Amino acid sequence: MSSGTPRGAEPEERARQLRELIEHHSRRYYLDDAPEIADAEFDVLVDELAVLEKAHPELARPDSPTQRVGGAVSALFTPAAHRQPLMSLDKTTSYEELLAWAKRMERYVSGEVQFNCELKIDGLAMNLLYEGGRLTKAATRGDGLVGEDVTANVETIGAIPRTIGPRAPDVVEVRGEIYMGTTAFDALNGRQAASGERTFINPRNAAAGSLRQKDPAVTASRDLSFWAYQLGALEGGPRFTRHGQTLDWLRETGFPINPEIRLLDDLDAVDGYCRHWLEHRHELDYEIDGTVVKVDDLAQRQELGATSKAPRWAIAYKFPPEERTTLLRGIMVSIGRTGKATPFAMLEPVVVGGATVSLATLHNEDQVAAKDVRPGDTVVVRRAGDVIPEVRGAVLAARPEGLAPWVFPAACPACEQPLVRLDGESDTFCINVDCPGQQVQRIAHFASRGAMDIEHLGERTVRAFVDAGLLADVADIYTLDYDRVATFEGWGQTSVDNLRQAVDASRSRPLANLLVGLSIRHLGSTGSRLLARAMGDMDRILAASTEEMAGVEGVGPVIAASVHQFFALDRNRSVVERLRAAGLAMEGPVVPDAPQVLAGKSVVVTGTLAGWSRDEVEEAIKARGGKAPGSVSRRTTAVVAGAEPGAAKLAKATELRIPLLDEAAFAVLLETGELPGDGSTDGGDTAG
Ligand code: NAD
Repeated sequence: MSSGTPRGAEPEERARQLRELIEHHSRRYYLDDAPEIADAEFDVLVDELAVLEKAHPELARPDSPTQRVGGAVSALFTPAAHRQPLMSLDKTTSYEELLAWAKRMERYVSGEVQFNCELKIDGLAMNLLYEGGRLTKAATRGDGLVGEDVTANVETIGAIPRTIGPRAPDVVEVRGEIYMGTTAFDALNGRQAASGERTFINPRNAAAGSLRQKDPAVTASRDLSFWAYQLGALEGGPRFTRHGQTLDWLRETGFPINPEIRLLDDLDAVDGYCRHWLEHRHELDYEIDGTVVKVDDLAQRQELGATSKAPRWAIAYKFPPEERTTLLRGIMVSIGRTGKATPFAMLEPVVVGGATVSLATLHNEDQVAAKDVRPGDTVVVRRAGDVIPEVRGAVLAARPEGLAPWVFPAACPACEQPLVRLDGESDTFCINVDCPGQQVQRIAHFASRGAMDIEHLGERTVRAFVDAGLLADVADIYTLDYDRVATFEGWGQTSVDNLRQAVDASRSRPLANLLVGLSIRHLGSTGSRLLARAMGDMDRILAASTEEMAGVEGVGPVIAASVHQFFALDRNRSVVERLRAAGLAMEGPVVPDAPQVLAGKSVVVTGTLAGWSRDEVEEAIKARGGKAPGSVSRRTTAVVAGAEPGAAKLAKATELRIPLLDEAAFAVLLETGELPGDGSTDGGDTAG
């Protein structure tokens, strides 16, 4: 069953359909831990029903899913009644709705309102009952009144105290969220894949699936965490007047309290909190699907009360969804510069994470197998921030009968030569140097800044020349037919002369640059420099054994084997000989190591810099002793912003007052290690 029952039915009929669908999906989600649709798609059904019931009050029913807490108790577990109901939360998706909620609420309460703002953790709600200071029962939310007794499983979670000290209240219900952190989730999926088992679709599912197990040993083997955020029943214990006091008490009693909770005075500040986390959600090591805004004063909470489903004193501000389901139309394999064959998903286009996604990575053969995604499946697609969209898994319940598993192709899609996967490696390669799939990228890489640095020979030009039959490999660059180039559209005599000069200038590049330019697997700029310096000239490298090269400090057996393998192929040797005949420098001058002006510094690059690939920028930073991490933190020395920089990185840099550099300032930084207007060359972090 999907969300796709046709609309347009009579209101009564549609309401019935919606209730049935919601019922079905709630069972799949809460009881089977195997949802068939993404949360956002489920929410659309509930919203549609709510609109229908509002427009046709005669259709409203007290047992409608719009009026009660979703969830139930599976036959796998003993029912456990909560002392006080465990409710859901009302939701908004916009600041205007949040404001309307606050205004409505202010009409009912006396005095100023302060708001507790919390993160909405994407896990599952847990009710922990302590009697006489001992954990006596742990239960899922269930229908809000009765949950599932999962005490034995919860007892295996280290973050949850089994006892809470001699001065504990007689009875207290501690509520919070059990979740799986992102690192723990990735590690679990890594283990699942390695042992040939299916991977989990997302951390929320992994947490629910790990907790709702018959065998507590399985729960114990999963890295689950907990944040406490609320009390239920409380007898014979401390009295609180504000939510903030409750949180303090919980913290002192030994419960983990989320460090991002803030007490805020006005709605502008609340709005700021929500917007901040919308932008920064991926900096956390756990997934959140929104924020929760709660009235701090407990007397005001009393005044406000609750509906049958949710308290009136709290509201969830839901973020736009990052997961959607869609049809996997097919799986293709693309060939990269080094011949790496990467499978990717071709999807029925779907809007997710603010963009339309029709392609998503599947990484490698093992990932496809572990996710068990098959063309024709309904799959869950995730697009989070500026990360490349990925397919998280398949919805098994929606799989058409007889769908065959996908098999990694035996031949390269570009040249039809066999693909090779070496023992112990997860990646598969096309090792044919003449493979047209690699041609353009290999030649463009040869000409790039970090290699032979041939200006005016970027990827687009290379592609045009390859298509016209002017270039087939890197050696052809030195016998280019410039008369023909001059006939290309947009190529005047000046452009042709500029290109010719740039090609000529590249003949004298040092050996290390030539090695980088040959796109030898595993051999980056550092390895090339070390090898060139130790060996001195190309002939020694061509004659060297694997052992000899592996003996070079910093080179090691993997690079050595790869270099040896590369030059063992006649085809590659003949390219080298043609380059030699074209007058390229086959020996030094041995390039001195770049001065380590960035030692101890950390430089984040965002957006594209003209004439640099992302790899080249990172290599340039690392070659000077610096680090080039993917995200901005207090330890970042500078952020280099090229064209179309990431908004989140810029905002973080501004917030942390980290210098932003343009391309010119970056060039100075590489040269001298200095920031504009800085003058200091000392290494070290700018902040703790
Ligand atoms: P909800 O889960 O969105 O919000 C209420 C819950 O938020 C609480 O029960 C609690 O567990 C959690 N929470 C996290 N952080 C909190 C905090 N700081 N303070 C208080 N509570 C916090 O709403 P809901 O209506 O109870 O549950 C429905 C959710 O389950 C929706 O996200 C829905 O999409 C999803 N769902 C999905 C499917 C599906 O098929 N994909 C089916 C059913 C439900």
